[in-house]
Amino acid sequence: MQSYSLIAPAKINLYLEILGDRPDGFHELIMILQSIELADRIDIQPSDTQKIYLYCDHPQVPTDETNLAYRAAQLMCDVFPEMHANYGGVSIKITKNIPVAAGLAGGSGNAAAVLVGINLLWQLGLTQPELQDLAAKLGSDIPFCIAGGTAMATGRGEKLDEIKHLNDIWVILAKYENISVATPWAYQTYRQQYSDTYIRDLTAIKSRTAKIHSRPLVEAINHQNRQQIGKLLHNDLEKVVLPSYPQVAELKSAFAAQDVLGTMMSGSGPTVFALCESQTQAIAVKDQVRTQIRDPQLKFWVTKFASSGIQIKL
Ligand code: ATP
Repeated sequence: MQSYSLIAPAKINLYLEILGDRPDGFHELIMILQSIELADRIDIQPSDTQKIYLYCDHPQVPTDETNLAYRAAQLMCDVFPEMHANYGGVSIKITKNIPVAAGLAGGSGNAAAVLVGINLLWQLGLTQPELQDLAAKLGSDIPFCIAGGTAMATGRGEKLDEIKHLNDIWVILAKYENISVATPWAYQTYRQQYSDTYIRDLTAIKSRTAKIHSRPLVEAINHQNRQQIGKLLHNDLEKVVLPSYPQVAELKSAFAAQDVLGTMMSGSGPTVFALCESQTQAIAVKDQVRTQIRDPQLKFWVTKFASSGIQIKL
Protein backbone atom coordinates (compact mmCIF):
# COMPACT_ATOMS: atom_id res chain seq x y z
CA MET A 1 0.00 0.00 0.00
CA GLN A 2 1.40 3.42 -0.99
CA SER A 3 2.24 5.69 1.95
CA TYR A 4 4.14 8.94 2.35
CA SER A 5 6.13 10.52 5.16
CA LEU A 6 6.31 14.28 5.01
CA ILE A 7 8.38 16.82 6.89
CA ALA A 8 6.42 19.93 7.93
CA PRO A 9 8.73 22.74 9.14
CA ALA A 10 7.74 25.43 11.63
CA LYS A 11 7.92 29.13 10.74
CA ILE A 12 8.96 32.28 12.53
CA ASN A 13 7.89 35.85 11.73
CA LEU A 14 10.82 38.14 11.02
CA TYR A 15 8.30 40.94 10.53
CA LEU A 16 4.62 41.36 11.41
CA GLU A 17 2.85 44.67 10.89
CA ILE A 18 -0.90 45.17 11.33
CA LEU A 19 -2.22 47.71 8.83
CA GLY A 20 -5.93 47.71 9.57
CA ASP A 21 -9.23 45.87 9.41
CA ARG A 22 -10.44 43.99 6.36
CA PRO A 23 -14.08 43.77 5.29
CA ASP A 24 -13.98 39.99 6.05
CA GLY A 25 -13.19 40.67 9.73
CA PHE A 26 -9.53 39.65 9.51
CA HIS A 27 -6.60 42.04 9.75
CA GLU A 28 -4.67 43.35 6.77
CA LEU A 29 -1.07 42.32 7.45
CA ILE A 30 2.45 42.65 6.14
CA MET A 31 4.66 39.79 7.25
CA ILE A 32 8.03 38.34 6.42
CA LEU A 33 7.92 34.62 7.12
CA GLN A 34 10.83 32.25 7.50
CA SER A 35 10.85 28.43 7.63
CA ILE A 36 13.06 26.77 10.21
CA GLU A 37 14.35 23.21 10.42
CA LEU A 38 12.36 22.32 13.55
CA ALA A 39 9.61 20.19 11.99
CA ASP A 40 6.74 17.77 12.60
CA ARG A 41 6.49 14.48 10.74
CA ILE A 42 3.26 13.49 9.00
CA ASP A 43 2.70 9.90 7.82
CA ILE A 44 -0.23 9.47 5.48
CA GLN A 45 -1.71 6.38 3.85
CA PRO A 46 -5.04 5.21 2.48
CA SER A 47 -7.48 3.96 5.15
CA ASP A 48 -9.54 0.78 4.77
CA THR A 49 -12.80 2.75 4.78
CA GLN A 50 -14.02 6.10 3.39
CA LYS A 51 -13.22 7.79 6.73
CA ILE A 52 -10.40 10.07 7.81
CA TYR A 53 -8.41 8.75 10.80
CA LEU A 54 -6.01 10.94 12.71
CA TYR A 55 -3.47 10.07 15.40
CA CYS A 56 -1.12 12.41 17.22
CA ASP A 57 1.48 11.72 19.92
CA HIS A 58 0.92 15.11 21.65
CA PRO A 59 -1.80 15.21 24.35
CA GLN A 60 -2.68 18.90 23.70
CA VAL A 61 -3.49 18.35 20.03
CA PRO A 62 -7.11 17.45 19.18
CA THR A 63 -7.58 14.40 16.96
CA ASP A 64 -11.14 15.21 15.84
CA GLU A 65 -12.41 17.43 13.02
CA THR A 66 -11.05 20.53 14.79
CA ASN A 67 -7.50 19.43 13.93
CA LEU A 68 -6.27 21.49 10.97
CA ALA A 69 -4.71 18.40 9.37
CA TYR A 70 -8.08 16.63 9.59
CA ARG A 71 -9.76 19.67 8.01
CA ALA A 72 -7.22 19.62 5.19
CA ALA A 73 -8.08 15.97 4.44
CA GLN A 74 -11.81 16.78 4.62
CA LEU A 75 -11.33 19.65 2.16
CA MET A 76 -9.60 17.33 -0.34
CA CYS A 77 -12.47 14.78 0.02
CA ASP A 78 -15.02 17.56 -0.61
CA VAL A 79 -13.19 19.09 -3.59
CA PHE A 80 -12.33 15.72 -5.21
CA PRO A 81 -15.32 13.46 -4.36
CA GLU A 82 -14.61 10.99 -7.20
CA MET A 83 -11.02 10.49 -6.05
CA HIS A 84 -12.27 10.06 -2.49
CA ALA A 85 -14.76 7.41 -3.64
CA ASN A 86 -12.07 5.73 -5.71
CA TYR A 87 -9.13 5.76 -3.29
CA GLY A 88 -11.08 5.75 0.02
CA GLY A 89 -10.26 7.77 3.12
CA VAL A 90 -6.87 8.48 4.63
CA SER A 91 -5.08 7.65 7.83
CA ILE A 92 -2.85 10.44 9.18
CA LYS A 93 -0.24 10.13 11.92
CA ILE A 94 1.28 13.34 13.34
CA THR A 95 4.56 13.16 15.24
CA LYS A 96 4.88 16.52 17.00
CA ASN A 97 8.20 18.24 17.53
CA ILE A 98 6.93 21.82 17.10
CA PRO A 99 5.53 23.24 20.36
CA VAL A 100 1.74 23.69 20.27
CA ALA A 101 0.00 27.11 20.33
CA ALA A 102 3.41 28.72 20.18
CA GLY A 103 3.21 31.17 17.23
CA LEU A 104 5.19 28.73 15.07
CA ALA A 105 2.35 27.64 12.74
CA GLY A 106 2.58 23.99 13.79
CA GLY A 107 -1.04 23.20 12.92
CA SER A 108 -0.81 25.10 9.63
CA GLY A 109 2.29 23.11 8.63
CA ASN A 110 0.49 19.84 9.43
CA ALA A 111 -2.43 20.87 7.21
CA ALA A 112 -0.04 21.86 4.41
CA ALA A 113 1.61 18.41 4.62
CA VAL A 114 -1.78 16.67 4.36
CA LEU A 115 -2.65 18.64 1.19
CA VAL A 116 0.70 17.69 -0.35
CA GLY A 117 0.34 14.07 0.82
CA ILE A 118 -3.16 13.58 -0.61
CA ASN A 119 -2.06 15.18 -3.89
CA LEU A 120 0.55 12.41 -4.07
CA LEU A 121 -1.64 9.54 -2.79
CA TRP A 122 -4.50 10.31 -5.19
CA GLN A 123 -2.10 11.24 -8.03
CA LEU A 124 -3.95 14.52 -8.54
CA GLY A 125 -1.01 16.30 -10.16
CA LEU A 126 -1.89 19.66 -8.57
CA THR A 127 0.77 22.34 -8.97
CA GLN A 128 2.14 24.29 -5.99
CA PRO A 129 -0.01 27.37 -6.78
CA GLU A 130 -3.11 25.14 -7.07
CA LEU A 131 -2.34 23.55 -3.70
CA GLN A 132 -1.80 27.02 -2.23
CA ASP A 133 -5.22 28.17 -3.48
CA LEU A 134 -6.81 25.24 -1.64
CA ALA A 135 -4.62 25.95 1.41
CA ALA A 136 -5.87 29.57 1.60
CA LYS A 137 -9.40 28.23 2.20
CA LEU A 138 -8.21 26.56 5.41
CA GLY A 139 -5.98 29.17 7.01
CA SER A 140 -3.82 32.21 6.32
CA ASP A 141 -0.42 30.64 7.09
CA ILE A 142 -0.99 27.38 5.18
CA PRO A 143 -0.06 28.61 1.65
CA PHE A 144 3.31 29.75 3.02
CA CYS A 145 3.86 26.44 4.82
CA ILE A 146 3.59 24.58 1.49
CA ALA A 147 6.34 26.56 -0.24
CA GLY A 148 8.42 27.59 2.79
CA GLY A 149 11.76 29.39 2.63
CA THR A 150 11.66 33.17 3.04
CA ALA A 151 8.59 35.06 1.81
CA MET A 152 6.67 38.29 2.09
CA ALA A 153 3.03 37.69 3.00
CA THR A 154 0.27 40.29 2.61
CA GLY A 155 -3.54 40.31 2.76
CA ARG A 156 -4.51 37.98 5.65
CA GLY A 157 -1.06 36.44 5.16
CA GLU A 158 -2.13 34.25 2.25
CA LYS A 159 -0.76 36.42 -0.61
CA LEU A 160 2.87 35.47 -1.05
CA ASP A 161 5.81 37.06 -2.80
CA GLU A 162 9.02 35.15 -2.73
CA ILE A 163 12.05 37.11 -1.61
CA LYS A 164 15.67 36.07 -1.58
CA HIS A 165 16.11 33.04 0.66
CA LEU A 166 18.18 33.42 3.77
CA ASN A 167 20.64 30.71 4.70
CA ASP A 168 23.02 29.90 7.50
CA ILE A 169 21.28 31.82 10.23
CA TRP A 170 20.89 29.91 13.48
CA VAL A 171 17.84 30.29 15.68
CA ILE A 172 17.26 29.72 19.37
CA LEU A 173 13.59 29.26 20.27
CA ALA A 174 12.42 29.54 23.85
CA LYS A 175 8.93 28.84 25.18
CA TYR A 176 7.40 28.34 28.60
CA GLU A 177 5.57 25.00 28.48
CA ASN A 178 2.86 26.34 30.78
CA ILE A 179 2.13 29.47 28.68
CA SER A 180 0.23 29.44 25.41
CA VAL A 181 -1.36 32.38 23.63
CA ALA A 182 -4.53 32.04 21.57
CA THR A 183 -3.98 33.81 18.23
CA PRO A 184 -7.57 35.25 18.12
CA TRP A 185 -7.09 36.76 21.61
CA ALA A 186 -3.87 38.52 20.51
CA TYR A 187 -5.47 40.07 17.42
CA GLN A 188 -8.69 41.05 19.24
CA THR A 189 -6.72 42.71 22.04
CA TYR A 190 -4.62 44.55 19.47
CA ARG A 191 -7.81 45.80 17.81
CA GLN A 192 -9.21 46.99 21.16
CA GLN A 193 -6.05 48.91 22.01
CA TYR A 194 -4.69 50.14 18.67
CA SER A 195 -7.58 50.46 16.22
CA ASP A 196 -7.08 54.27 16.25
CA THR A 197 -3.79 53.65 14.36
CA TYR A 198 -5.49 51.53 11.64
CA ILE A 199 -5.41 52.67 8.04
CA ARG A 200 -9.09 52.89 7.15
CA ASP A 201 -9.08 53.55 3.46
CA LEU A 202 -8.46 50.61 1.10
CA THR A 203 -6.43 52.69 -1.38
CA ALA A 204 -4.14 53.84 1.41
CA ILE A 205 -3.69 50.21 2.53
CA LYS A 206 -2.75 49.25 -1.03
CA SER A 207 -0.15 51.99 -1.38
CA ARG A 208 1.23 51.21 2.10
CA THR A 209 1.53 47.52 1.14
CA ALA A 210 3.33 48.44 -2.08
CA LYS A 211 5.90 50.47 -0.15
CA ILE A 212 6.99 47.46 1.91
CA HIS A 213 9.09 46.31 -1.03
CA SER A 214 11.53 49.10 -0.36
CA ARG A 215 11.50 48.60 3.36
CA PRO A 216 14.88 48.28 4.99
CA LEU A 217 14.35 44.69 6.18
CA VAL A 218 13.68 43.46 2.63
CA GLU A 219 16.80 45.28 1.46
CA ALA A 220 18.82 43.75 4.27
CA ILE A 221 17.52 40.31 3.24
CA ASN A 222 18.38 40.97 -0.41
CA HIS A 223 21.92 41.87 0.65
CA GLN A 224 22.05 38.98 3.15
CA ASN A 225 23.10 41.58 5.72
CA ARG A 226 22.66 39.55 8.92
CA GLN A 227 23.46 42.40 11.33
CA GLN A 228 20.78 44.61 9.75
CA ILE A 229 18.27 41.75 9.60
CA GLY A 230 18.73 41.24 13.33
CA LYS A 231 18.20 44.95 14.06
CA LEU A 232 15.10 45.30 11.87
CA LEU A 233 13.00 42.43 13.28
CA HIS A 234 9.52 43.69 14.14
CA ASN A 235 6.26 42.32 15.53
CA ASP A 236 3.26 44.57 16.36
CA LEU A 237 1.69 41.80 18.47
CA GLU A 238 4.46 42.17 21.06
CA LYS A 239 2.66 45.37 22.11
CA VAL A 240 -0.23 43.34 23.52
CA VAL A 241 1.37 40.00 24.39
CA LEU A 242 4.45 41.21 26.31
CA PRO A 243 2.53 43.41 28.81
CA SER A 244 0.08 40.55 29.50
CA TYR A 245 2.81 37.93 29.89
CA PRO A 246 5.68 39.51 31.90
CA GLN A 247 7.67 36.23 31.84
CA VAL A 248 7.75 36.42 28.03
CA ALA A 249 8.90 40.05 28.19
CA GLU A 250 11.64 39.08 30.64
CA LEU A 251 12.72 36.23 28.35
CA LYS A 252 13.05 38.62 25.43
CA SER A 253 15.12 41.04 27.55
CA ALA A 254 17.40 38.16 28.57
CA PHE A 255 18.07 37.34 24.90
CA ALA A 256 18.53 41.03 24.01
CA ALA A 257 21.34 41.29 26.61
CA GLN A 258 23.26 38.49 24.84
CA ASP A 259 25.52 38.57 21.80
CA VAL A 260 22.75 37.88 19.26
CA LEU A 261 21.87 39.38 15.87
CA GLY A 262 18.38 40.17 17.16
CA THR A 263 15.47 38.81 19.16
CA MET A 264 11.69 38.91 18.72
CA MET A 265 8.47 37.13 19.64
CA SER A 266 7.18 34.92 16.80
CA GLY A 267 3.62 35.46 15.53
CA SER A 268 1.15 35.76 18.40
CA GLY A 269 3.72 34.20 20.73
CA PRO A 270 4.59 33.19 23.30
CA THR A 271 7.73 31.73 21.65
CA VAL A 272 10.66 34.15 21.65
CA PHE A 273 13.44 33.59 19.13
CA ALA A 274 16.96 34.96 18.82
CA LEU A 275 19.12 34.87 15.68
CA CYS A 276 22.82 33.96 15.75
CA GLU A 277 25.63 33.69 13.21
CA SER A 278 26.68 30.17 14.21
CA GLN A 279 25.53 27.04 15.98
CA THR A 280 28.26 27.44 18.62
CA GLN A 281 27.07 30.95 19.41
CA ALA A 282 23.43 29.82 19.54
CA ILE A 283 24.24 27.04 22.01
CA ALA A 284 26.31 29.44 24.17
CA VAL A 285 23.45 32.00 24.27
CA LYS A 286 20.90 29.30 25.11
CA ASP A 287 23.10 28.10 28.01
CA GLN A 288 23.49 31.68 29.30
CA VAL A 289 19.75 32.38 29.26
CA ARG A 290 19.03 28.99 30.84
CA THR A 291 21.32 29.81 33.78
CA GLN A 292 19.75 33.26 34.15
CA ILE A 293 16.13 32.05 34.14
CA ARG A 294 16.04 28.87 36.16
CA ASP A 295 12.51 27.75 35.42
CA PRO A 296 11.93 24.07 34.55
CA GLN A 297 8.93 25.13 32.42
CA LEU A 298 11.20 27.06 30.05
CA LYS A 299 12.18 24.91 27.04
CA PHE A 300 14.76 25.71 24.36
CA TRP A 301 15.40 24.53 20.81
CA VAL A 302 18.41 25.35 18.61
CA THR A 303 17.64 25.15 14.91
CA LYS A 304 18.42 27.03 11.70
CA PHE A 305 16.71 28.71 8.76
CA ALA A 306 15.31 26.27 6.20
CA SER A 307 14.96 27.03 2.51
CA SER A 308 11.90 24.91 1.78
CA GLY A 309 8.46 24.02 3.08
CA ILE A 310 6.85 20.57 2.95
CA GLN A 311 9.29 17.87 1.94
CA ILE A 312 8.80 14.19 1.20
CA LYS A 313 10.94 12.05 3.47
CA LEU A 314 12.48 9.31 1.38
P1 ATP B 1 -0.23 30.07 14.27
O1 ATP B 1 1.19 30.54 14.41
O2 ATP B 1 -0.59 29.56 12.89
O3 ATP B 1 -1.26 30.96 14.86
P2 ATP B 1 0.32 28.41 16.49
O4 ATP B 1 1.70 27.91 16.22
O5 ATP B 1 0.20 29.55 17.43
O6 ATP B 1 -0.36 28.74 15.13
P3 ATP B 1 -0.71 25.74 16.63
O7 ATP B 1 0.39 24.91 17.19
O8 ATP B 1 -0.99 25.63 15.19
O9 ATP B 1 -0.52 27.27 17.06
O10 ATP B 1 -2.02 25.40 17.49
C1 ATP B 1 -3.03 26.31 17.81
C2 ATP B 1 -4.24 25.51 18.33
O11 ATP B 1 -4.78 24.78 17.23
C3 ATP B 1 -3.86 24.48 19.39
O12 ATP B 1 -4.21 24.95 20.66
C4 ATP B 1 -4.62 23.23 19.01
O13 ATP B 1 -5.70 23.01 19.89
C5 ATP B 1 -5.21 23.49 17.63
N1 ATP B 1 -4.76 22.56 16.58
C6 ATP B 1 -5.52 22.11 15.59
N2 ATP B 1 -4.81 21.32 14.76
C7 ATP B 1 -3.57 21.27 15.23
C8 ATP B 1 -2.39 20.58 14.79
N3 ATP B 1 -2.38 19.78 13.71
N4 ATP B 1 -1.27 20.77 15.51
C9 ATP B 1 -1.28 21.59 16.58
N5 ATP B 1 -2.37 22.22 17.05
C10 ATP B 1 -3.51 22.07 16.39
